[in-house]
Amino acid sequence: MSRESNIPLVHLVGAGPGDPELLTLKAIRAIRQATLLLVDDLVGRGALRYARRSARVVDVGKRGGCASTPQAFIERLMASEAMRGERVVRLKGGDPFVFGRGGEEVAHLRALGLEVEVVNGITAGLAAATSIGVPLTHRDHAHGVMFVTGHARRDGRGAAIDWPSIAAAAASGITVVVYMGIATVEALQAGLASRLAGSTPVAIVQNASLPGQRDAICRLDELAAVVVNERFGAPAIIVVGDVVRAAAALAKPRGLVKAAQAA
Ligand code: SAH
Repeated sequence: MSRESNIPLVHLVGAGPGDPELLTLKAIRAIRQATLLLVDDLVGRGALRYARRSARVVDVGKRGGCASTPQAFIERLMASEAMRGERVVRLKGGDPFVFGRGGEEVAHLRALGLEVEVVNGITAGLAAATSIGVPLTHRDHAHGVMFVTGHARRDGRGAAIDWPSIAAAAASGITVVVYMGIATVEALQAGLASRLAGSTPVAIVQNASLPGQRDAICRLDELAAVVVNERFGAPAIIVVGDVVRAAAALAKPRGLVKAAQAA
């Protein structure tokens, strides 16, 4: 990619949910050109097969807030290395702007005078739903979809999660897709039950698109028990709403359909 400007450029690249076949062509191009890759821990290792052998790969995972590389350190490193002439790619799971703190990173880098290009990735909520055949906005069941986090900010900034309002949206026909909801699944279940029937269908998908994918479909009033008993853990997506019923209807046919046989 030849550029006219001499201003250092950082790429913020979404690596999708994990399956390397779900990378975009733009993501692959940026990874191929990188001399330094800063990689989140939810990024599927398959994405790194496109990196040059000479590229430096730095893991900057922050899962669950433990053993973390501080955000400020990552931002400083990106800026200083780009200014030294490295072709820096910040590789993030899913999409950089969906619960990925991509907005904070762009603001920081631009404040330092750097250029930033953001490359979309397939966000985990979309991949998780599709992997089990859930059409998130099937018009018989839903007129919209809402991505929410189950994990309130620890720094006290931003509001606590308002489950009753989310439940009200769900009751009005909005499919709810919850990221980071496993650790707080009891609060999620209780909050949603304030406005939704216990029989509302729910899907849990762990490691969507990866060989270790596990999933389950249950009722809202069973959700926390299923998560505990079946030992679901992060990273997982929880989908709440009637569209989950459509997953069964769209399940792969096990044989030829009768009508086709009769024809
Ligand atoms: N930017 C990411 C989200 C980062 S927040 C995206 O757009 O997908 C991290 C959360 O994303 C996890 O706690 C989990 O809820 C979800 N997640 C990421 N990858 C996942 C995967 N392969 N399967 C299921 N959930 C995933």
